[in-house]
Amino acid sequence: MHPATIMLAVLSGGTGTPKLLRGMNEITNFSVIVNTAEDMWVSGNKVCPDIDSVIYALAGLIDETKWWGIKHDTFMTHFRLKELGFDEVLMIGDADRATHIMRSELLRQGMSLTEATRKVAETYSVENEILPMCEEEVETRVVTIEGDMHFQEFWVRRKGKPEVIDVYFKGIEDAKPTEDVIKALEKAKGVIIGPSNPITSISPILSLRGMRDLLRRKKVVAVSPIIGKTAVSGPAAKLMRAKGFEVSPKGVGEVYRDFLDILVVDSTDGNFEGETYEVVATNIMMRNKEDAVRLSEFLLQLF
Ligand code: GDP
Repeated sequence: MHPATIMLAVLSGGTGTPKLLRGMNEITNFSVIVNTAEDMWVSGNKVCPDIDSVIYALAGLIDETKWWGIKHDTFMTHFRLKELGFDEVLMIGDADRATHIMRSELLRQGMSLTEATRKVAETYSVENEILPMCEEEVETRVVTIEGDMHFQEFWVRRKGKPEVIDVYFKGIEDAKPTEDVIKALEKAKGVIIGPSNPITSISPILSLRGMRDLLRRKKVVAVSPIIGKTAVSGPAAKLMRAKGFEVSPKGVGEVYRDFLDILVVDSTDGNFEGETYEVVATNIMMRNKEDAVRLSEFLLQLF
């Protein structure tokens, strides 16, 4: 824990936000509220891609070439399963799979996902509170011209190629933020929405019952995952377009407009004004940990 700093809550998906968290970890205290709508059971184990990326990033173990999985992992079980005729939808490393086995055993013993995640984080010596957004099962579905499919089927198996008509979150009507998520938000001086996919990673969190109202009561700063007219990585651009948002930092601001206070965009994009929020520009591309620390320092002085 950092003794004299403020407490923040961060909303996170994958890639961009875990990159940022690695920097924030050097300078301040925070809890992380993580998207679970891309979770799925694979070969008998519960995989939580965004929770795993956050834990591995904070533990210093993440594979920085892909921003998922554990660095230097092997894939013996995955390929052996393939030889046996089981083609897993996700390419799961052996060490990574150990995390999934541990989590699934804890769930089978009766723990909630929140409790199991706390245990996994502790095992990896991560001191920050890592909180699944909800306990209910929510599933991101992508409606394409080739059919309605799980997000991972669209992105991993079909490489994000099919034309997208819509994105929706199955089960979201019954999902609510956990008590721990509500407490973390109440305790926080402010909220950072990390640069993750606004449609598939952040929108599920925002769609939980009462979440937008909770955020309206806090100071919220979002970092754009879009620089210029493209996403730094992943399918955010394609999915934003499908949901009717402009693919630009301004489009990101639109997704968050009813509760956003400050949108942080890249220095190359700082030439517009938000109608309902302030726009500030800095270098938001994180090529290494130093970039992440510098961006974190910039964010901290906004609170
Ligand atoms: P994905 O779209 O399925 O990959 O969903 P994620 O929640 O993993 O989000 C990845 C997002 O991180 C993408 O939209 C990227 O544009 C964003 N991202 C990745 N690296 C960076 C970075 O260095 N800076 C910023 N600002 N965004 C980043």
